[in-house]
Amino acid sequence: MAGAGGVDLLAEQLVAAVGAAHVLTDPDVMAGFERDWTGRWQGRARLVVRPGTTAEVAQVVQICAAVGVAIVPQGGNTGLVGGAVPDAGAVILHLGRLDHLDPVDLTSAQVTAGAGVTLARLQDHVGAAGLAFPVDLAARDSATVGGMVATNAGGLHVLRYGGMRSQVVGVEAVMANGGIVRRLDGLIKDNTGYDLPGLLCGSEGTLAVVTAARLRLSPLFAHRVTALIGLEGLPAALDLVARLRTLTSLEAAEVMFASGIDIVCAHTGLPAPFPVRYPCVLLVECAAATDPVDDLAAALLAAPEPLDTAVATAGAARAGLWSWRERHTEAVNAIGVPHKLDVTLPLGSMAAFESEVRPLIEKVAPGATTVIFGHVGDGNLHVNVVGPAPDDDGVDDAVFRLVAAHHGSISAEHGIGRAKRGWLDLTRSADDIAAMAAIKMAFDPGGLFNPGVLLP
Ligand SMILES: Cc1cc2nc3c(=O)[nH]c(=O)nc-3n(C[C@H](O)[C@H](O)[C@H](O)COP(=O)(O)OP(=O)(O)OC[C@H]3O[C@@H](n4cnc5c(N)ncnc54)[C@H](O)[C@@H]3O)c2cc1C
Repeated sequence: MAGAGGVDLLAEQLVAAVGAAHVLTDPDVMAGFERDWTGRWQGRARLVVRPGTTAEVAQVVQICAAVGVAIVPQGGNTGLVGGAVPDAGAVILHLGRLDHLDPVDLTSAQVTAGAGVTLARLQDHVGAAGLAFPVDLAARDSATVGGMVATNAGGLHVLRYGGMRSQVVGVEAVMANGGIVRRLDGLIKDNTGYDLPGLLCGSEGTLAVVTAARLRLSPLFAHRVTALIGLEGLPAALDLVARLRTLTSLEAAEVMFASGIDIVCAHTGLPAPFPVRYPCVLLVECAAATDPVDDLAAALLAAPEPLDTAVATAGAARAGLWSWRERHTEAVNAIGVPHKLDVTLPLGSMAAFESEVRPLIEKVAPGATTVIFGHVGDGNLHVNVVGPAPDDDGVDDAVFRLVAAHHGSISAEHGIGRAKRGWLDLTRSADDIAAMAAIKMAFDPGGLFNPGVLLP
Protein backbone atom coordinates (compact mmCIF):
# COMPACT_ATOMS: atom_id res chain seq x y z
CA MET A 1 0.00 0.00 0.00
CA ALA A 2 1.13 3.57 -0.66
CA GLY A 3 2.41 5.29 2.42
CA ALA A 4 0.35 8.46 2.12
CA GLY A 5 0.37 10.84 5.10
CA GLY A 6 3.46 11.87 7.04
CA VAL A 7 4.70 9.61 9.81
CA ASP A 8 4.22 12.38 12.35
CA LEU A 9 0.61 13.00 11.38
CA LEU A 10 -0.14 9.26 11.52
CA ALA A 11 1.63 8.94 14.88
CA GLU A 12 -0.23 11.97 16.22
CA GLN A 13 -3.59 10.53 15.26
CA LEU A 14 -2.71 7.15 16.79
CA VAL A 15 -1.46 8.84 19.97
CA ALA A 16 -4.80 10.63 20.21
CA ALA A 17 -6.55 7.25 19.86
CA VAL A 18 -4.51 5.02 22.22
CA GLY A 19 -2.22 7.33 24.25
CA ALA A 20 1.42 8.27 23.74
CA ALA A 21 2.74 5.37 25.83
CA HIS A 22 1.26 2.92 23.33
CA VAL A 23 2.68 4.27 20.09
CA LEU A 24 6.28 3.08 19.72
CA THR A 25 8.58 4.77 17.22
CA ASP A 26 12.04 4.28 18.76
CA PRO A 27 13.94 1.89 16.42
CA ASP A 28 15.61 0.11 19.36
CA VAL A 29 12.27 -0.54 21.02
CA MET A 30 10.64 -1.61 17.74
CA ALA A 31 13.44 -4.05 16.85
CA GLY A 32 11.98 -6.94 18.84
CA PHE A 33 8.65 -6.58 17.01
CA GLU A 34 10.27 -6.49 13.57
CA ARG A 35 12.14 -9.79 13.70
CA ASP A 36 10.57 -13.23 13.91
CA TRP A 37 11.29 -15.93 16.49
CA THR A 38 13.63 -17.89 14.19
CA GLY A 39 15.63 -14.87 13.03
CA ARG A 40 14.95 -15.80 9.38
CA TRP A 41 12.44 -12.98 8.80
CA GLN A 42 13.22 -9.34 9.42
CA GLY A 43 11.06 -6.30 8.54
CA ARG A 44 10.99 -2.56 9.06
CA ALA A 45 7.83 -1.09 10.62
CA ARG A 46 6.69 2.51 10.46
CA LEU A 47 5.64 2.25 14.10
CA VAL A 48 4.11 -0.14 16.62
CA VAL A 49 0.69 0.66 18.06
CA ARG A 50 -0.74 -1.10 21.10
CA PRO A 51 -4.49 -0.43 21.53
CA GLY A 52 -6.08 -1.47 24.84
CA THR A 53 -9.70 -2.06 23.79
CA THR A 54 -11.65 -3.32 20.79
CA ALA A 55 -12.95 0.21 20.19
CA GLU A 56 -9.35 1.45 20.05
CA VAL A 57 -8.46 -1.31 17.57
CA ALA A 58 -11.33 -0.12 15.37
CA GLN A 59 -10.05 3.48 15.60
CA VAL A 60 -6.52 2.38 14.69
CA VAL A 61 -7.84 0.46 11.67
CA GLN A 62 -9.85 3.48 10.50
CA ILE A 63 -6.89 5.85 10.91
CA CYS A 64 -4.50 3.59 8.98
CA ALA A 65 -7.10 2.90 6.27
CA ALA A 66 -7.69 6.63 5.80
CA VAL A 67 -4.01 7.27 5.06
CA GLY A 68 -3.46 3.99 3.20
CA VAL A 69 -0.90 2.45 5.55
CA ALA A 70 -0.85 -1.35 5.81
CA ILE A 71 -1.46 -3.11 9.15
CA VAL A 72 0.34 -6.21 10.40
CA PRO A 73 -1.48 -7.74 13.41
CA GLN A 74 0.89 -9.24 15.94
CA GLY A 75 0.35 -11.29 19.10
CA GLY A 76 3.20 -13.18 20.77
CA ASN A 77 5.39 -13.10 17.64
CA THR A 78 6.06 -16.84 17.96
CA GLY A 79 4.77 -17.63 14.47
CA LEU A 80 7.22 -19.61 12.35
CA VAL A 81 6.39 -18.45 8.79
CA GLY A 82 7.16 -14.72 8.96
CA GLY A 83 3.46 -13.75 9.03
CA ALA A 84 3.76 -11.13 11.77
CA VAL A 85 6.87 -9.47 10.30
CA PRO A 86 6.09 -6.17 8.52
CA ASP A 87 6.86 -5.06 5.00
CA ALA A 88 8.72 -1.75 5.04
CA GLY A 89 6.45 1.07 6.16
CA ALA A 90 3.62 -1.01 7.66
CA VAL A 91 2.17 -0.43 11.11
CA ILE A 92 2.46 -3.31 13.57
CA LEU A 93 -0.82 -3.61 15.45
CA HIS A 94 0.18 -5.35 18.67
CA LEU A 95 -2.73 -6.99 20.51
CA GLY A 96 -0.94 -7.76 23.80
CA ARG A 97 -2.99 -5.28 25.85
CA LEU A 98 -6.26 -7.02 24.97
CA ASP A 99 -5.63 -9.43 27.81
CA HIS A 100 -8.99 -9.63 29.58
CA LEU A 101 -10.30 -13.05 30.62
CA ASP A 102 -13.95 -13.58 31.54
CA PRO A 103 -14.82 -15.96 34.37
CA VAL A 104 -15.10 -19.55 33.12
CA ASP A 105 -18.69 -20.43 32.16
CA LEU A 106 -19.05 -23.81 33.85
CA THR A 107 -22.52 -24.41 32.44
CA SER A 108 -21.27 -24.44 28.86
CA ALA A 109 -17.60 -25.28 29.58
CA GLN A 110 -16.54 -22.18 27.63
CA VAL A 111 -14.57 -19.03 28.28
CA THR A 112 -14.17 -15.69 26.50
CA ALA A 113 -10.56 -14.50 26.20
CA GLY A 114 -9.05 -11.33 24.78
CA ALA A 115 -6.78 -11.72 21.75
CA GLY A 116 -3.69 -10.85 23.79
CA VAL A 117 -4.13 -13.53 26.47
CA THR A 118 -1.22 -15.96 26.38
CA LEU A 119 -1.92 -19.67 26.14
CA ALA A 120 -0.21 -20.31 29.51
CA ARG A 121 -2.43 -17.72 31.24
CA LEU A 122 -5.51 -19.21 29.62
CA GLN A 123 -4.47 -22.69 30.77
CA ASP A 124 -3.94 -21.48 34.37
CA HIS A 125 -7.24 -19.60 34.37
CA VAL A 126 -9.39 -22.50 33.17
CA GLY A 127 -7.36 -25.00 35.22
CA ALA A 128 -8.30 -23.10 38.40
CA ALA A 129 -11.95 -23.65 37.44
CA GLY A 130 -11.40 -27.40 37.01
CA LEU A 131 -11.28 -27.44 33.21
CA ALA A 132 -8.59 -27.55 30.52
CA PHE A 133 -8.00 -25.84 27.19
CA PRO A 134 -7.57 -28.56 24.55
CA VAL A 135 -4.83 -26.89 22.46
CA ASP A 136 -1.31 -26.96 23.85
CA LEU A 137 2.05 -26.05 22.31
CA ALA A 138 5.58 -25.38 23.49
CA ALA A 139 5.35 -21.60 22.82
CA ARG A 140 2.58 -21.40 25.46
CA ASP A 141 4.25 -18.63 27.52
CA SER A 142 4.15 -16.16 24.59
CA ALA A 143 1.68 -17.37 21.94
CA THR A 144 -1.66 -15.55 22.21
CA VAL A 145 -5.28 -16.47 21.67
CA GLY A 146 -5.52 -14.04 18.71
CA GLY A 147 -2.40 -15.46 17.06
CA MET A 148 -3.56 -19.03 17.65
CA VAL A 149 -6.93 -18.29 16.05
CA ALA A 150 -5.24 -16.47 13.15
CA THR A 151 -2.86 -19.39 12.50
CA ASN A 152 -5.38 -22.12 13.38
CA ALA A 153 -2.68 -23.50 15.67
CA GLY A 154 -2.39 -27.26 15.98
CA GLY A 155 -0.04 -28.47 18.69
CA LEU A 156 0.23 -31.52 20.85
CA HIS A 157 -3.39 -32.68 21.27
CA VAL A 158 -4.83 -32.52 17.76
CA LEU A 159 -5.31 -36.28 17.52
CA ARG A 160 -7.79 -36.15 20.42
CA TYR A 161 -9.43 -32.72 20.18
CA GLY A 162 -8.59 -31.18 16.79
CA GLY A 163 -6.80 -27.87 16.39
CA MET A 164 -7.75 -24.31 17.23
CA ARG A 165 -10.67 -24.13 14.77
CA SER A 166 -12.36 -26.99 16.61
CA GLN A 167 -12.28 -25.01 19.87
CA VAL A 168 -13.50 -21.65 18.56
CA VAL A 169 -17.20 -21.18 19.34
CA GLY A 170 -17.15 -17.52 18.28
CA VAL A 171 -14.93 -14.49 17.78
CA GLU A 172 -14.95 -10.74 18.00
CA ALA A 173 -13.08 -9.06 15.15
CA VAL A 174 -12.47 -5.65 13.64
CA MET A 175 -13.02 -5.55 9.89
CA ALA A 176 -11.10 -3.47 7.34
CA ASN A 177 -13.76 -0.72 7.40
CA GLY A 178 -13.47 -0.44 11.18
CA GLY A 179 -16.73 -2.32 11.75
CA ILE A 180 -16.89 -4.83 14.59
CA VAL A 181 -18.26 -8.37 14.19
CA ARG A 182 -19.10 -9.86 17.59
CA ARG A 183 -20.15 -13.49 18.04
CA LEU A 184 -19.31 -14.19 21.68
CA ASP A 185 -22.62 -15.48 23.05
CA GLY A 186 -21.39 -19.06 23.17
CA LEU A 187 -24.23 -20.55 21.13
CA ILE A 188 -23.49 -24.20 20.48
CA LYS A 189 -25.76 -24.18 17.43
CA ASP A 190 -26.20 -21.10 15.25
CA ASN A 191 -26.95 -21.67 11.58
CA THR A 192 -27.36 -18.09 10.46
CA GLY A 193 -25.22 -17.94 7.36
CA TYR A 194 -21.50 -17.99 6.74
CA ASP A 195 -19.25 -19.23 9.52
CA LEU A 196 -17.15 -16.09 9.95
CA PRO A 197 -15.35 -17.32 13.10
CA GLY A 198 -14.36 -20.52 11.28
CA LEU A 199 -13.14 -18.47 8.31
CA LEU A 200 -10.95 -16.28 10.49
CA CYS A 201 -9.24 -19.41 11.86
CA GLY A 202 -6.17 -19.77 9.66
CA SER A 203 -6.66 -16.40 7.93
CA GLU A 204 -3.23 -15.26 9.21
CA GLY A 205 -4.26 -11.65 9.83
CA THR A 206 -5.25 -11.10 6.19
CA LEU A 207 -9.04 -10.73 6.65
CA ALA A 208 -9.68 -9.01 10.00
CA VAL A 209 -8.13 -8.31 13.40
CA VAL A 210 -9.28 -10.83 16.01
CA THR A 211 -9.88 -9.02 19.31
CA ALA A 212 -11.43 -11.82 21.40
CA ALA A 213 -12.53 -15.44 21.12
CA ARG A 214 -15.13 -17.62 22.80
CA LEU A 215 -13.43 -20.97 23.40
CA ARG A 216 -14.59 -24.51 24.08
CA LEU A 217 -12.98 -26.22 27.10
CA SER A 218 -12.30 -29.88 27.89
CA PRO A 219 -12.21 -31.94 31.10
CA LEU A 220 -9.20 -31.53 33.39
CA PHE A 221 -8.28 -35.16 33.85
CA ALA A 222 -7.04 -36.34 37.23
CA HIS A 223 -4.84 -39.07 35.77
CA ARG A 224 -2.16 -38.72 33.15
CA VAL A 225 0.67 -41.01 32.01
CA THR A 226 3.55 -40.27 29.65
CA ALA A 227 5.75 -42.89 27.99
CA LEU A 228 8.94 -42.53 25.98
CA ILE A 229 9.64 -45.51 23.72
CA GLY A 230 12.87 -46.32 21.85
CA LEU A 231 12.28 -47.69 18.32
CA GLU A 232 14.15 -48.72 15.19
CA GLY A 233 12.53 -46.14 12.92
CA LEU A 234 9.44 -44.25 11.83
CA PRO A 235 7.63 -47.34 10.41
CA ALA A 236 7.74 -48.93 13.88
CA ALA A 237 6.47 -45.68 15.44
CA LEU A 238 3.57 -45.54 12.98
CA ASP A 239 2.65 -49.18 13.67
CA LEU A 240 2.67 -48.57 17.41
CA VAL A 241 0.58 -45.38 17.15
CA ALA A 242 -1.96 -47.26 14.99
CA ARG A 243 -2.30 -49.82 17.82
CA LEU A 244 -2.50 -47.14 20.54
CA ARG A 245 -5.28 -45.26 18.74
CA THR A 246 -7.72 -47.82 20.20
CA LEU A 247 -7.13 -46.17 23.60
CA THR A 248 -9.76 -43.45 24.08
CA SER A 249 -7.38 -41.76 26.53
CA LEU A 250 -4.61 -41.23 23.94
CA GLU A 251 -3.89 -37.50 23.85
CA ALA A 252 -0.45 -37.07 22.24
CA ALA A 253 1.88 -39.02 19.93
CA GLU A 254 5.14 -37.23 19.15
CA VAL A 255 8.15 -38.46 17.25
CA MET A 256 11.81 -37.47 17.29
CA PHE A 257 15.03 -38.94 15.87
CA ALA A 258 18.50 -39.67 17.25
CA SER A 259 20.32 -36.79 15.56
CA GLY A 260 17.77 -34.28 16.89
CA ILE A 261 17.97 -35.71 20.40
CA ASP A 262 21.77 -35.37 20.26
CA ILE A 263 21.37 -31.66 19.43
CA VAL A 264 18.83 -31.17 22.24
CA CYS A 265 21.17 -32.86 24.73
CA ALA A 266 24.15 -30.78 23.60
CA HIS A 267 22.15 -27.55 23.88
CA THR A 268 20.32 -28.23 27.15
CA GLY A 269 22.71 -30.48 29.07
CA LEU A 270 19.99 -33.15 29.33
CA PRO A 271 21.31 -36.75 29.44
CA ALA A 272 20.38 -39.16 26.64
CA PRO A 273 16.88 -40.60 27.24
CA PHE A 274 18.07 -44.25 26.99
CA PRO A 275 21.45 -46.01 27.37
CA VAL A 276 20.89 -47.25 23.79
CA ARG A 277 20.90 -44.62 21.01
CA TYR A 278 17.62 -45.57 19.27
CA PRO A 279 17.16 -44.20 15.74
CA CYS A 280 13.64 -43.05 16.61
CA VAL A 281 11.92 -42.14 19.90
CA LEU A 282 8.14 -41.98 20.31
CA LEU A 283 6.47 -40.03 23.11
CA VAL A 284 2.87 -40.88 23.93
CA GLU A 285 0.58 -39.45 26.59
CA CYS A 286 -2.78 -40.71 27.86
CA ALA A 287 -5.17 -38.79 30.13
CA ALA A 288 -8.46 -39.93 31.67
CA ALA A 289 -10.77 -39.65 34.68
CA THR A 290 -9.57 -43.09 35.81
CA ASP A 291 -5.94 -44.17 35.75
CA PRO A 292 -4.96 -45.05 32.13
CA VAL A 293 -1.62 -46.67 33.11
CA ASP A 294 -2.84 -50.27 32.90
CA ASP A 295 -4.47 -49.76 29.50
CA LEU A 296 -1.31 -48.15 28.10
CA ALA A 297 0.92 -50.85 29.61
CA ALA A 298 -1.28 -53.60 28.13
CA ALA A 299 -1.16 -51.98 24.68
CA LEU A 300 2.63 -51.64 24.84
CA LEU A 301 3.08 -55.22 26.08
CA ALA A 302 1.02 -56.47 23.13
CA ALA A 303 3.64 -55.11 20.71
CA PRO A 304 5.37 -57.89 18.71
CA GLU A 305 8.88 -56.95 19.97
CA PRO A 306 9.77 -55.98 23.57
CA LEU A 307 10.00 -52.20 23.84
CA ASP A 308 12.48 -50.07 25.76
CA THR A 309 10.16 -47.72 27.58
CA ALA A 310 10.38 -44.98 30.24
CA VAL A 311 7.08 -44.17 31.95
CA ALA A 312 6.05 -41.34 34.28
CA THR A 313 2.80 -40.34 35.97
CA ALA A 314 3.84 -37.54 38.35
CA GLY A 315 3.90 -33.99 36.97
CA ALA A 316 7.63 -33.26 37.25
CA ALA A 317 8.67 -36.66 35.90
CA ARG A 318 6.28 -36.34 32.97
CA ALA A 319 7.65 -32.86 32.21
CA GLY A 320 11.10 -34.45 32.26
CA LEU A 321 10.08 -36.94 29.56
CA TRP A 322 8.51 -34.15 27.49
CA SER A 323 11.65 -32.01 27.65
CA TRP A 324 13.51 -33.99 24.94
CA ARG A 325 10.63 -33.30 22.55
CA GLU A 326 9.65 -29.78 23.63
CA ARG A 327 13.18 -28.40 23.59
CA HIS A 328 13.81 -29.35 19.95
CA THR A 329 12.71 -25.95 18.58
CA GLU A 330 15.02 -23.86 20.78
CA ALA A 331 17.91 -26.34 20.31
CA VAL A 332 17.58 -26.09 16.52
CA ASN A 333 17.53 -22.28 16.74
CA ALA A 334 20.71 -22.40 18.83
CA ILE A 335 22.74 -24.02 16.02
CA GLY A 336 21.74 -21.51 13.34
CA VAL A 337 18.89 -19.84 11.49
CA PRO A 338 16.62 -22.72 10.49
CA HIS A 339 14.52 -23.29 7.40
CA LYS A 340 11.39 -24.55 9.16
CA LEU A 341 9.34 -26.76 6.87
CA ASP A 342 6.17 -27.83 8.66
CA VAL A 343 4.55 -30.40 6.41
CA THR A 344 1.82 -32.99 6.57
CA LEU A 345 1.61 -36.30 4.74
CA PRO A 346 -0.99 -39.01 4.39
CA LEU A 347 -0.08 -41.38 7.24
CA GLY A 348 0.63 -44.15 4.71
CA SER A 349 3.30 -42.01 3.00
CA MET A 350 5.04 -40.64 6.08
CA ALA A 351 7.76 -43.26 6.37
CA ALA A 352 8.63 -43.13 2.65
CA PHE A 353 8.79 -39.33 2.80
CA GLU A 354 11.07 -39.39 5.84
CA SER A 355 13.50 -41.82 4.22
CA GLU A 356 13.54 -39.83 0.94
CA VAL A 357 13.76 -36.32 2.36
CA ARG A 358 17.08 -36.75 4.17
CA PRO A 359 19.15 -37.71 1.07
CA LEU A 360 17.26 -35.10 -0.95
CA ILE A 361 18.32 -32.34 1.47
CA GLU A 362 21.91 -33.63 1.46
CA LYS A 363 21.87 -33.41 -2.36
CA VAL A 364 20.41 -29.88 -2.49
CA ALA A 365 22.31 -28.48 0.49
CA PRO A 366 25.42 -30.63 1.10
CA GLY A 367 26.58 -30.51 4.71
CA ALA A 368 23.34 -29.01 6.04
CA THR A 369 22.02 -30.25 9.40
CA THR A 370 18.54 -31.78 9.19
CA VAL A 371 16.45 -32.21 12.32
CA ILE A 372 13.03 -33.85 11.97
CA PHE A 373 10.42 -34.15 14.69
CA GLY A 374 6.69 -33.76 14.86
CA HIS A 375 3.17 -34.76 15.69
CA VAL A 376 3.24 -38.28 14.27
CA GLY A 377 -0.39 -39.01 15.13
CA ASP A 378 -1.43 -36.22 12.74
CA GLY A 379 0.93 -37.07 9.87
CA ASN A 380 2.79 -33.84 10.68
CA LEU A 381 6.58 -33.65 10.44
CA HIS A 382 8.65 -30.53 11.18
CA VAL A 383 11.62 -30.67 8.82
CA ASN A 384 14.26 -28.21 10.06
CA VAL A 385 17.29 -27.49 7.92
CA VAL A 386 20.21 -25.43 9.23
CA GLY A 387 23.01 -24.45 6.87
CA PRO A 388 21.58 -22.76 3.76
CA ALA A 389 21.47 -18.95 3.98
CA PRO A 390 18.10 -17.55 5.12
CA ASP A 391 17.34 -16.21 1.62
CA ASP A 392 18.42 -19.40 -0.20
CA ASP A 393 15.14 -21.27 -0.67
CA GLY A 394 16.47 -24.19 -2.75
CA VAL A 395 15.97 -26.64 0.07
CA ASP A 396 12.45 -25.31 0.78
CA ASP A 397 11.57 -25.83 -2.89
CA ALA A 398 12.93 -29.38 -3.02
CA VAL A 399 11.18 -30.48 0.19
CA PHE A 400 7.83 -28.93 -0.78
CA ARG A 401 7.95 -30.63 -4.18
CA LEU A 402 8.57 -33.99 -2.49
CA VAL A 403 5.61 -33.29 -0.17
CA ALA A 404 3.41 -32.51 -3.17
CA ALA A 405 4.55 -35.71 -4.92
CA HIS A 406 3.32 -37.62 -1.84
CA HIS A 407 -0.04 -35.74 -1.90
CA GLY A 408 0.75 -33.93 1.35
CA SER A 409 0.44 -30.27 2.31
CA ILE A 410 3.21 -27.67 2.57
CA SER A 411 1.73 -26.43 5.86
CA ALA A 412 0.32 -28.63 8.58
CA GLU A 413 -0.16 -26.04 11.31
CA HIS A 414 2.17 -23.03 11.05
CA GLY A 415 0.42 -21.47 8.04
CA ILE A 416 1.77 -19.98 4.83
CA GLY A 417 2.89 -16.50 5.98
CA ARG A 418 5.63 -14.93 3.89
CA ALA A 419 7.70 -18.11 3.99
CA LYS A 420 5.60 -20.37 1.76
CA ARG A 421 3.32 -18.20 -0.37
CA GLY A 422 5.43 -18.89 -3.47
CA TRP A 423 4.60 -22.60 -3.22
CA LEU A 424 0.88 -22.40 -2.42
CA ASP A 425 0.02 -23.60 -5.93
CA LEU A 426 1.90 -26.86 -5.35
CA THR A 427 -0.93 -28.23 -3.21
CA ARG A 428 -3.81 -25.80 -4.00
CA SER A 429 -5.40 -25.58 -7.48
CA ALA A 430 -5.80 -22.32 -9.42
CA ASP A 431 -9.55 -22.40 -8.71
CA ASP A 432 -8.88 -22.93 -5.02
CA ILE A 433 -6.50 -19.96 -4.88
CA ALA A 434 -8.95 -17.82 -6.89
CA ALA A 435 -11.68 -18.59 -4.34
CA MET A 436 -9.36 -17.54 -1.48
CA ALA A 437 -8.39 -14.36 -3.35
CA ALA A 438 -12.10 -13.53 -3.81
CA ILE A 439 -12.67 -13.91 -0.07
CA LYS A 440 -9.70 -11.63 0.63
CA MET A 441 -11.08 -9.06 -1.83
CA ALA A 442 -14.51 -9.16 -0.20
CA PHE A 443 -13.16 -8.68 3.32
CA ASP A 444 -10.28 -6.31 2.59
CA PRO A 445 -10.64 -4.70 -0.84
CA GLY A 446 -7.94 -2.11 -0.11
CA GLY A 447 -5.32 -4.68 0.87
CA LEU A 448 -4.98 -3.12 4.34
CA PHE A 449 -4.31 -6.27 6.38
CA ASN A 450 -1.03 -8.16 6.08
CA PRO A 451 -0.19 -7.59 2.39
CA GLY A 452 2.32 -10.16 1.16
CA VAL A 453 1.13 -12.86 3.56
CA LEU A 454 -0.62 -16.10 2.54
CA LEU A 455 -1.73 -15.28 -1.02
CA PRO A 456 0.85 -15.15 -3.83
C1 LIG B 1 8.86 -23.19 20.54
C2 LIG B 1 7.69 -23.10 19.60
C3 LIG B 1 6.80 -24.17 19.49
C4 LIG B 1 5.71 -24.08 18.64
N1 LIG B 1 4.86 -25.15 18.55
C5 LIG B 1 3.78 -25.07 17.75
C6 LIG B 1 2.88 -26.19 17.65
O1 LIG B 1 3.08 -27.25 18.25
N2 LIG B 1 1.79 -26.04 16.86
C7 LIG B 1 1.53 -24.89 16.16
O2 LIG B 1 0.52 -24.82 15.47
N3 LIG B 1 2.39 -23.84 16.23
C8 LIG B 1 3.48 -23.90 17.00
N4 LIG B 1 4.35 -22.83 17.06
C9 LIG B 1 4.09 -21.63 16.24
C10 LIG B 1 3.33 -20.50 16.98
O3 LIG B 1 3.47 -20.59 18.37
C11 LIG B 1 1.84 -20.51 16.60
O4 LIG B 1 1.72 -20.23 15.21
C12 LIG B 1 0.99 -19.49 17.37
O5 LIG B 1 -0.36 -19.72 17.06
C13 LIG B 1 1.34 -18.04 17.06
O6 LIG B 1 0.73 -17.19 18.03
P1 LIG B 1 1.29 -15.71 18.25
O7 LIG B 1 0.38 -15.03 19.23
O8 LIG B 1 2.71 -15.76 18.63
O9 LIG B 1 1.08 -15.08 16.80
P2 LIG B 1 2.08 -14.15 15.97
O10 LIG B 1 3.36 -14.86 15.72
O11 LIG B 1 2.17 -12.82 16.59
O12 LIG B 1 1.27 -14.03 14.59
C14 LIG B 1 1.09 -15.15 13.78
C15 LIG B 1 0.14 -14.77 12.62
O13 LIG B 1 -1.14 -14.43 13.12
C16 LIG B 1 -1.47 -13.06 12.83
N5 LIG B 1 -2.12 -12.52 14.04
C17 LIG B 1 -1.61 -12.49 15.30
N6 LIG B 1 -2.52 -11.99 16.15
C18 LIG B 1 -3.62 -11.70 15.42
C19 LIG B 1 -4.89 -11.15 15.72
N7 LIG B 1 -5.24 -10.82 16.97
N8 LIG B 1 -5.78 -10.97 14.72
C20 LIG B 1 -5.47 -11.31 13.44
N9 LIG B 1 -4.27 -11.83 13.09
C21 LIG B 1 -3.37 -12.03 14.07
C22 LIG B 1 -0.16 -12.41 12.46
O14 LIG B 1 -0.36 -11.33 11.59
C23 LIG B 1 0.60 -13.56 11.84
O15 LIG B 1 0.20 -13.73 10.49
C24 LIG B 1 5.48 -22.89 17.88
C25 LIG B 1 6.36 -21.82 17.99
C26 LIG B 1 7.46 -21.91 18.82
C27 LIG B 1 8.38 -20.73 18.91
